Formats: sequence, C-alpha cells, structure tokens
Amino acid sequence: MKYRKLGKSGLMVSEIACGNWITHGAQVDDSIAQACVHASLDSGITTFDTADVYAETRAESVLGNSLKGIRRESVELCTKVFHPTGPGPNDKGLSRKHMMEACHASLRRLQTDYIDVYYAHRFDAAVPPEETWLALSDLVRQGKVLYVGVSEWTAEQISQGAAWARELKVPLVASQPQYSMLWRVIEAEVIPACEREGIGQVVWSPLAQGILSGKYATDKPLPEGSRASSAAGSPFFERLAGQWMRQEVLQAVERLRPLAHEAGLTLPQLAVAWVLQNPQVSSAIIGASKPEQIKENVKAAGIRLDAEVMERINDILSGFAELDPSKTG
Ligand code: NDP
Repeated sequence: MKYRKLGKSGLMVSEIACGNWITHGAQVDDSIAQACVHASLDSGITTFDTADVYAETRAESVLGNSLKGIRRESVELCTKVFHPTGPGPNDKGLSRKHMMEACHASLRRLQTDYIDVYYAHRFDAAVPPEETWLALSDLVRQGKVLYVGVSEWTAEQISQGAAWARELKVPLVASQPQYSMLWRVIEAEVIPACEREGIGQVVWSPLAQGILSGKYATDKPLPEGSRASSAAGSPFFERLAGQWMRQEVLQAVERLRPLAHEAGLTLPQLAVAWVLQNPQVSSAIIGASKPEQIKENVKAAGIRLDAEVMERINDILSGFAELDPSKTG
C-alpha cells in the first residue's frame, strides 16, 4: 500500500480505501464483511469509509464490530451525515440538531470516541450555512471530529463552504465525489475549486460499481451474486442499467482488457490505478462483496500508467465517459 496526504492536511490516508455501501449489513453477511475488513487491513488499507445511512445504520455497526481489537490509531474512520436515518423531520439534513445527534449515534455504532473525517453527505440548501459550519466547528472543538469533508457538492458550494470553514477554523480537507474512467464530471470544476482550497479528492465507485471489472456483458446472464444480479428489478438497478449496462459501453470496457494485460494488470486494477493517476485524488474508495476482490484491487496502489496508455483509454472510452460538470451531485 502507498499513502497520500489528504489535501493540504497532515492526515495520511491509504491510496485505496475500503467502503461498505450496499455490502455491509445488507448484501453480504457479517462474517464476509469482517473478512473484507481484515483483508483490507492485511493489505495495508488504513482508511475505512461508511455512512450513517448505509443499510439503515447497520453498515456502521458492522464496521465497528469488524474493527474490534484493532489499534484505533492505526486506522482512519470516515463517516457521513445528511440522508434520513429515522422517520422524523429532524432525522436528516445538516441542521445543528441532526448533525450533533447523528455524530453521537455514529460514534456509538462505530465504537469510537472520534471520527477521523466527517462528511456532509450532500449539500443542504434548507439550512443556513453558518448553522451547519458552526455545528461542524463545535464537533471539531469537542474532539469528536478531526477533519471535515463534503460529498457531491458543486464547485460553487465547495468554495462557499471553504469560506465558512476558514472563518470558523474548520479543517475542511476532503471532497468525496464519484470518479471513474466513465464518470469524470469533477475534472472541469470541482477539482480546480478544491485544488485552490487545499481539499483532496477521496473518490467513490472507481469501478463504476463493478462495470469496469469487465464481468458484465449484455449477451450473458448477470453473474450470480453480483451487485447487478442482487439488485435486478429494483429502481437502483434500472438506474445502473440505464447508465452503463448497455452493449456499446460494455464492449468499450472489453476493449480495455488487452491494455490492462499489456500493463500487467487486471481490468479492476486498471480502473483503480486510472483514478489514482490524478494527483488531486488522495484515495480511491473501493467496495467489495468478497475478500478476494480487495486482494486483487489493492494491487493498483503505486501503479504508474504511461501517458500512452492513458491516451488509449481516453480514445476507447471517448463518447462513453461523462464529463459534464453540471451532473455533479
Ligand atoms: P466500486 O466501483 O469499487 O464497486 C465495488 C463493487 O464492484 C464490489 O462491491 C463488487 O460488487 C464489484 N467488484 C469489486 N472488485 C471486483 C473485482 N475484482 N472483480 C469483479 N467485481 C468486482 O465501488 P462502490 O460502488 O462499492 O463504492 C465504493 C465506496 O464508495 C462505497 O462503499 C462507499 O463507501 C463510497 N460511496 C460513497 C458515495 C457518496 O455519496 N459519498 C456513494 C457511493 C459510494 P459485486 O461483487 O457485488 O458485483
């Protein structure tokens, strides 16, 4: 594993982080979740990403249980607040009330005294920004949160947030957007705005949820146990399918296979290595339904891809990669 600085901060994060959306507390049973966490630790992953909303709060509990006995200082625990975690009108968003309550609940479920990076999971236009940023500042001053991040905020929202963070001395150092060879919407605006503020990118879905692993083909049944087959028929699947599960996209992904092979990589490794070529990316958060996927994907850490390989990837995916910054969030 290699480690990078998170934006301008002094915090080191592993180039590859382990995330537990969809998997822990939901798609996989707890013993597999624990095996994935341990495979991550064995591979040198120190950065773990979750959110209060994942699996209706179970994902945080599963992660907390899986990390039992691990030296707290040896990992970075990152979680998020915004999406609803209960039925009440105050069980969501970035109000002072919900953020304080949500942070305490996350600490309990993660079985820890502090969160290393606490993300505002989405922008909340319904709450005055000073309320949100003062609550974050207080959580930092109380020692419950060490660093702050935002997720899927636009460049403008990030710049305005950074001004509040400066004023209230909040260490805003991370942005968590979707980023992959197929989803490059942060390149035009979010990354330059963050670079100006010293905010690093901790990117999600570097495999485009498994599409870039090359395991899907429209003329074959969905692989058993895969995310797509587990979700088949749901609105979530319809979105995924509508976006990428199309013959021309999957065939383009297949054309990347020889390139990966020439670079001595598998397709999933190529996809993770690709996001890490961007120096503004501090860490790529991978998901896994099996420990073997972690063991395979972490080999992307420290890989340098030639300019020529990067150009061939651009050519193959031209027309399929989304670049439009207005799709942020
Ligand atoms: P990926 O793009 O890495 O997709 C992970 C999935 O791809 C796995 O669960 C697995 O699914 C499949 N896969 C992984 N490796 C392989 C392999 N080697 N061969 C074949 N299939 C493979 O990331 P995720 O979409 O899971 O997102 C990663 C993390 O990012 C999340 O856990 C979460 O922490 C964070 N996130 C943040 C969001 C935000 O709004 N801030 C939103 C979404 C995610 P399967 O085996 O089931 O097919």
